Amino acid sequence: MGVPTLGCTCRVCTSTDPRDRRTRPSIAVTWAGHRVVIDTGPDFRMQALREGIDHVDAVLYTHSHADHILGLDDLRPLSFKHKNKIPLYADDEAASVIERIFDYTFDPDSQYPTRARVEMHRLGQSVEIEGAVFHRVPLTHGRLEVAGFRFGNAAYLTDMNDIPETSLALLENLDVVILDALRKTAHSSHATLEQAVGFVNRMRPRRAFFTHMSHDLLHAETNNELPENIQLAYDGLRIPFEI
Ligand SMILES: [Zn+2]
Ligand SMILES: [Zn+2]
Repeated sequence: MGVPTLGCTCRVCTSTDPRDRRTRPSIAVTWAGHRVVIDTGPDFRMQALREGIDHVDAVLYTHSHADHILGLDDLRPLSFKHKNKIPLYADDEAASVIERIFDYTFDPDSQYPTRARVEMHRLGQSVEIEGAVFHRVPLTHGRLEVAGFRFGNAAYLTDMNDIPETSLALLENLDVVILDALRKTAHSSHATLEQAVGFVNRMRPRRAFFTHMSHDLLHAETNNELPENIQLAYDGLRIPFEI
């Protein structure tokens, strides 16, 4: 929902710590002048302006929930200056939802002249973009299977409450993992703080960052309760990794 959450005046929503202002989850993976964005949520435009993102080589989608896709149309100006159509990758089910919601973009009969110059691809087990390989990591998000991604020695695992055993095998020897930790109380489709710490202990990355936190978690206070190698991520955080 983002923090501050609309209509809420709790201590996190009114916190003056900039790390307690949370836009919807997304990351940009940047290497050697190339950039892949994972998810374009409703805050994509402001996030891209904030981070000076002036080109995108491809977009990977984790799933089709609103907080992960609704900024797709803001790819338009970036797509106009891109050499070809910007490739988008999503699971078949998510791709179908995205194509339906943005039918004026994807419908071959669309007459809308300034629609985004993007091209939807069905995501396989991995995809190579500008020499970098992104491996799909199946995750359980309530009743949905969604996509996490491993690239080089890092992984991005948002929106999940369980990691299947077969996916844990894809998540060995990581330097950095970014994963879902919504709040302390149980949720049907997101990991709690405690569950997320449990996943980190099984994957054993060198460092872990939590994402998708709700307004139940105060940044500084929560960080103090976590093991030394685990921290809450925050908007604008930059994490070095090797692809
Ligand atoms: Zn979701
Ligand atoms: Zn989400």
